Amino acid sequence: DSQDAGAIEGDRVLREPICCILGHVDAGKTKLLDCIRHTNVQKGEAGGITQQIAATYIPVDYIKERAKPCEGVIIKVPGLLVIDTPGHESFSNMRSRGMSLCDVAVVVVDIMHGLEKQTVESLALLKDHNVRFIVVLNKVDRLCGWKHCPDAPIKKALENQSGNVKREFEWRLSKVVTQLKENGFNTALYYDNHKFQKVFDIVPTSALSGEGIPDLLLMLLLRSQATMMEKLTFVNSVECTVLEVNDDKDLGTTIDVVLINGLLHKGDQVNVCTKQGPVVTTIQDLLTPHPLKELRVKGIYKHHKELKAAQGVKIVARGLKYAIPGTSLIVVKPGDDLGQSEAKRQMNENEEGNVIQEI
Ligand code: GDP
Repeated sequence: DSQDAGAIEGDRVLREPICCILGHVDAGKTKLLDCIRHTNVQKGEAGGITQQIAATYIPVDYIKERAKPCEGVIIKVPGLLVIDTPGHESFSNMRSRGMSLCDVAVVVVDIMHGLEKQTVESLALLKDHNVRFIVVLNKVDRLCGWKHCPDAPIKKALENQSGNVKREFEWRLSKVVTQLKENGFNTALYYDNHKFQKVFDIVPTSALSGEGIPDLLLMLLLRSQATMMEKLTFVNSVECTVLEVNDDKDLGTTIDVVLINGLLHKGDQVNVCTKQGPVVTTIQDLLTPHPLKELRVKGIYKHHKELKAAQGVKIVARGLKYAIPGTSLIVVKPGDDLGQSEAKRQMNENEEGNVIQEI
């Protein structure tokens, strides 16, 4: 299956781009993600979307199915991993690490409001970290007189609108393009954007009725593979960020991580940064939830011997109680220094102690 296989590009295997969703409160970040997921559940379209730990895994087949009108394009990545919660601890406490986790961002702008305070903050943060992004111009259905075209590509949906709606759309779009320009970004409607290496894409959407969602999913894949082939190449070296620490009544303390690259195995020795200093512990279990429809059965996870990037994973191990969200998890290879140097470097950044505890 495509989640395990990865996509082959020459002799390269590509991993899924990791995407985060940013924007001002109420712009529609949550609704957008719901819209991406729900269509699948309600219509039983090309399946395979799984709600992962702190992330949603969207396989390439699902995106191909939703973006059918755009046939003929060649997709080289095996899917997309969307980080669920932009309000996640690692994004607020340790924004820079949160950012460095993402390959690509979606910045949601309410078409009726234009750029707002948190939009501008998000853009500045993305610029600082050199993260590419797509601007989603959401809530197009709120344009006066909008005719719903559920799940249609946005160009088609716009062609269906009256002259007045088209004019209002153009006017609001140009206002946002100007505001973005004032913040230092050249942008264009994605289907008019022929210089996407330098000019950022705008994808108009309705998270309510789904217009523009096929375009957004497809563009996230196409632009990622066109601009960051190196970064998306799968390598057998673990890159992994801790997102959250949880107390589970059955499992004990677990950490939710995003595996960005490489393979994690049950039994791996890992070095985790904690408030009490670096801890070396052994992975007792690697868990992911069951596919979406089974997710309602709470607390039941799939157990894995091995997991391949990119995905969201729950790790069961001892000594994780004080793990610090936003830090990297390091795999300790036999004979190396217990990941000591990297762990110490991170601990110093966190201004904490650096005596390694082995558990
Ligand atoms: P967030 O704070 O950015 O996560 O925003 P939400 O997803 O919670 O959305 C805020 C409000 O806007 C909710 O009432 C949503 O139902 C509504 N909303 C979000 N997207 C759309 C859209 O595309 N069209 C319309 N009409 N309403 C939307």
